[in-house]
Amino acid sequence: MKIRELSEQLANQIAAGEVVERPASVVKELVENALDAGSTQIDILLEDAGLKKIQVVDNGEGIASEDVENAFKRHATSKIHHQADLFRIRTLGFRGEALPSIASVSEMTIETATKDESNGTIVHLQGGKILSHQMGPLRKGTKVVVENLFFNTPARLKYIKTFQTELANVGDIVNRLALSHPAVAFRLVHDGNPMTHTAGTGDLKQTIAGIYGIQTAKKMLAIQASDLDFELKGYLSLPEVTRANRNYLSLIINGRYIKNYALNKAIVQGYGSKLMIGRYPIAIIEITMDPLLVDVNVHPTKQEVRLSKEPELMQLIRTTIAEALKEETLIPNVGQQKEFNERFKTNQKPEQIKLPLSNAEIQQPLAYDASSGEFFVPHKQSAEKLEPTWQGEQLDTQLEEENGQQSTDKLNAFLSEKKITQTNQVGEDQLPFETSVSHEATEVSPQMIEAMLEEKPSTQRFPELEYFGQMHGTFLFAQGEDGLYIIDQHAAQERIKYEYYREKIGEVSHDSQALLIPIVLEYPTDDYLRIMEGKDTLQQVGIGLEEFGHATFIIRTHPTWFPVGQEEQTVKDLIDMYLTTGKVSVKKFLEGTAIMMSCKRSIKANHYLDDKQARMLLKELATCENPFNCPHGRPVLIHFTLGDMERMFKRIQDPHQTRE
Ligand code: ADP
Ligand code: MG
Repeated sequence: MKIRELSEQLANQIAAGEVVERPASVVKELVENALDAGSTQIDILLEDAGLKKIQVVDNGEGIASEDVENAFKRHATSKIHHQADLFRIRTLGFRGEALPSIASVSEMTIETATKDESNGTIVHLQGGKILSHQMGPLRKGTKVVVENLFFNTPARLKYIKTFQTELANVGDIVNRLALSHPAVAFRLVHDGNPMTHTAGTGDLKQTIAGIYGIQTAKKMLAIQASDLDFELKGYLSLPEVTRANRNYLSLIINGRYIKNYALNKAIVQGYGSKLMIGRYPIAIIEITMDPLLVDVNVHPTKQEVRLSKEPELMQLIRTTIAEALKEETLIPNVGQQKEFNERFKTNQKPEQIKLPLSNAEIQQPLAYDASSGEFFVPHKQSAEKLEPTWQGEQLDTQLEEENGQQSTDKLNAFLSEKKITQTNQVGEDQLPFETSVSHEATEVSPQMIEAMLEEKPSTQRFPELEYFGQMHGTFLFAQGEDGLYIIDQHAAQERIKYEYYREKIGEVSHDSQALLIPIVLEYPTDDYLRIMEGKDTLQQVGIGLEEFGHATFIIRTHPTWFPVGQEEQTVKDLIDMYLTTGKVSVKKFLEGTAIMMSCKRSIKANHYLDDKQARMLLKELATCENPFNCPHGRPVLIHFTLGDMERMFKRIQDPHQTRE
């Protein structure tokens, strides 16, 4: 006999290949089981990014002693029993695959008890084999411990990236599960450090605050809409709050977090030109629909779904978002200013509120570094260092009060211990958590970029200026040969920075250099396929993609012009550009980046500049290619000629006013 049935264990291991790709998939399956069991509190504890240990503790209904071993049989589930159930799935799980699959590639212990039993159960398994089945403590709920994941499948381990990437993936999954279940309190702890914490009050906005931070939550707009088939509810970030990738778009259909390229696209389209190029908003949209309209049984991980009325749903999402943003007056800086004022009104201790960086900086005079032409906060470290806020902001401050910098230090120690190199540095956009660096609130529309590209060097001569004063920390006054000049210091600095960055990153050469550590990028299947189509286009800008396993690319070299330390981000941004526009233009990319960076790094209004700083600023401005407009097209300086002024004071007769 050549054809034989696979042993149950082998079948499970094969299935595990689909369901259990990495620690994050284990966390996802275990947490979904906890949610299906009606839990209101779910704790997730990890060691070594989950590779050493993943522990999920819930307070759900538990599993009866006589049922526990059944849970490890393939296709054994308590959730659906009939074919008809498959079309009306209301639980997260239903395929009965997760527990046996995970158990087959790890050492697992499950401790569980239901409310009607007189004692609980502990079952211990290794590589899917049950080693022991004992009586356990009577604590209603279930605790699943997964240790030494992939100990018996070394091939799987090869796909595991750095601890940091794996951890970021877990964080991402937990965030989305928490966002789709605001009534459940989630806690994610890694090596003893709290990462995510949500209150479980049922209020989505509070959950958002727990995950993305209070400042971000404050800048989220509630939306609500419905038509005959769909009901939408959720929150959108104001266009000023953006991220570099789509990771912050969360779609929840009937309580299940899903991935769907078309719906993500509809969200972005709803923002229209309000979004900066290559940037994405934060959005959490809960969609309720008849389960008959959605097929979740497309892929073992159940994240991809098939929608019967996708175009109609896209349309509803687009128009709802466009409407919501139309009604909102979008004056970003005014908003920030309000927060700033409130802080002083309420008289709270400064460290109790985490402010966007720009506001925190406002209180200190800036220093100016003439050699680089940069302004900087004297405590530069605090401004430059990315400090991940691993958990909700309240918890964060609380922690900081208790341990000082301990949590961040631990993270840094962890990162350096794992020898995470520059290419893999924690970039704010890689982390699914809020970082303390604020995103600058400026819109750069494609039209603006277009205009920038058309910009010709100015032929006008920049006047010789003699500085004599500052007003309201905002305007600089200077006299020239031909009268008075008033300079908007922020616009001036933006212009200087913009030209600086344009030059700094603008030298595009075709040379490429090898990466010390290749970049491995994984995309959702649909994106992956589209990227494959664009492989040649991307090659033209120096991004050579090699296929590397399922929906994964590896990149071994990069063009030398990539900003140092941002190689991975630059690759991602260029690929994102291709995905959104179907083209990649290095020139446009550089313009966009330069505008963004210039704005991010520029001083805001209400900054006192001392004499020397102000003079330096004007000197720098004079060397600009176009000193007359900021990168967004606003004027940098205005001019009153001597004649204008004399006329205003009626020192000379205006010919038009001579007749009485
Ligand atoms: P599925 O979730 O698709 O049913 P699983 O393999 O994930 O399949 O789980 C098998 C069964 O084990 C579930 O149907 C459920 O009855 C039980 N189970 C698993 N985890 C839990 C838990 N945390 N609490 C209660 N029951 C659980
Ligand atoms: Mg399950």
